[in-house]
Amino acid sequence: METETSELLYRFFRTASEHLEGYRRSEPYPDVFYPLFRQEEPRPVQEPAGQPVQEHTGGQFRSLTEVYAGISRCTACALARTRKNTVAGEGPEELSGLPAAVEVMVIGEAPGADEDRLGHPFVGRAGQLLDKMLAAIQLSRKTNCYITNVIKCRPPNNRDPAPDECACCSAFLEAQIRLIQPKMILSAGRVAAQNLLQTTDGIGKLRGRFFDYHGIPLMPLYHPSALLRNEELKRPAWEDLKVFRTRLNQIRSGN
Ligand code: URA
Repeated sequence: METETSELLYRFFRTASEHLEGYRRSEPYPDVFYPLFRQEEPRPVQEPAGQPVQEHTGGQFRSLTEVYAGISRCTACALARTRKNTVAGEGPEELSGLPAAVEVMVIGEAPGADEDRLGHPFVGRAGQLLDKMLAAIQLSRKTNCYITNVIKCRPPNNRDPAPDECACCSAFLEAQIRLIQPKMILSAGRVAAQNLLQTTDGIGKLRGRFFDYHGIPLMPLYHPSALLRNEELKRPAWEDLKVFRTRLNQIRSGN
């Protein structure tokens, strides 16, 4: 059987069993599948004269505009070949022209089909639920919250991002966090939490607890897609959000 067919079958049965079990497994897909996405040479870079692609060292971006330009030109991994749009991130500045108003950064996993089509993060069903969850604790991407993902291009068929794809995007995410300087970070789902915290612990263990991300309090949450698949996760997610809100209010009042 061809690798592509085996991967499709593997993904199908794994998704079905995760659906029945009500959670996503934390193991990455078997390595045997990843060469599928690595073996193609990246598209040649179509560079306007005088604007070379920057190396991914993180500190080179001096503004979000520079980060966005870097993302839109990026061909560092094979996802550049299959994306329709890059999905950089958005917050008050992009949506309402409100500068420096970001209190909380939300970091998800990767763009899905809707996000890839439209070029904006969390705009599908999971995104609509995320907006409601944020609204419940008085957060909104239009006023005080910035939303992005660990990787900025859609993995084909919504598979988990491969470790090398996350590594290719890490300089963008690090620059976004450094430039935005949120008071707090919410990560959505296992992949985001594991990447940010450099752990292999599952989301069931990580969720609802505070971690220190370079001096910024970070709380992992269940991914909104998981809440859409499993109603029973909504209650603990709401409890986590309340704990997050309490800490944010303490930080706001200087405690
Ligand atoms: N899921 C994510 O993790 N990010 C998105 O932008 C959309 C769905």
